Amino acid sequence: MPELPEITSRAREMNKALVGKTLASFEIKQTQCLNVTERVFKKALLGATINQISSKGKWLLVDTSQGWLLINLGMGGEILLKTDGTLPKKHRFIIGFSDGSQLVINFWWFGYVHFAKHDQLQFHPIVGKLGPNILDLTFPEFKSILQKQRGRLKTNLLDQSKMAGIGNAYIHDILFFAKLHPLCQIPKLDESDMRSLFDAIHRELRMSLDKGGAFYELNLYGNPGGFTEKDIVIGYRDGKPCPVCSTPIQKVKTGSTSSFICPDCQKLV
Ligand SMILES: [Zn+2]
Repeated sequence: MPELPEITSRAREMNKALVGKTLASFEIKQTQCLNVTERVFKKALLGATINQISSKGKWLLVDTSQGWLLINLGMGGEILLKTDGTLPKKHRFIIGFSDGSQLVINFWWFGYVHFAKHDQLQFHPIVGKLGPNILDLTFPEFKSILQKQRGRLKTNLLDQSKMAGIGNAYIHDILFFAKLHPLCQIPKLDESDMRSLFDAIHRELRMSLDKGGAFYELNLYGNPGGFTEKDIVIGYRDGKPCPVCSTPIQKVKTGSTSSFICPDCQKLV
C-alpha cells in the first residue's frame, strides 16, 4: 500500500511534470472510483489547467483552475505519465492532456478519483477528515496530538484522522527503532518514548522519501522506488534474528493487522 513516502514522491514528480497541462479528455473504465456521476465529473474538470499538486496522507491533491482532482490508489496502483501514445496493459482511468500526453492510472484493487470544488475540500468525507501530514509536525505538535489519544499505539498511528501518512508497511521498523511494542497503551508513553517514536518516524519515512519510495511502487515514469527489501530491518522478517539482540523476530496479531516485532527489544509494558 502506498504510504507517505510514495505519495509524496508521486506529488513531487507530478508537480515537475504536469503543472500547466490542460485536462482534455477522460477515459473512465471503473466509474465506481468517482464520487460524482461521470457526466458531472467531466463537466467539472474538462478544460481545467493544473496549478499545483500536493499530497495529504495517502491522497494526491491536484489543484486545477476548475477545482480539485483527488486521487487515492487504495491498496496500491500506478500513476504513469505516457507521452508516446502507448498504454500499459492494465489501466482503469486515463486523463488525456491537450498536448497529447496522458496520465494513466491503474488500481490493483480499488481506488478513488474524486472531484471537489475549490471551497469544498474541507467537507470532502475522507480528505476533509485527514489529520496533518506526519512529517510536517514539530515534536511539540506530535506530542500534543499523541497525548490526547487513548488506546493502543499502533492503532492510533495508523488512524489517518489523527496524523496522516503511516500505513502497515513502515510501522514495523518505526516501532522497532523506537523500542516500542505496537500494543502499548499511549498514556504509558513518557517524554523519551515519544521523542524516540518521533525520531524513528522521521528516520524511516525520510529515508524512503529520499529514495523515491518503496520498490513495490512505480514512479510516474514506470521505475520502481529505491527503498528496497534491504532497507527493511524487522518488517516481514519473522524467524530471522533481531539485528540488535539476535532474538528471532516474531509475527504477532495486533487487532485487525499483523505486526513484526523483536519480543526482547520491544517489550509490552
Ligand atoms: Zn532485539
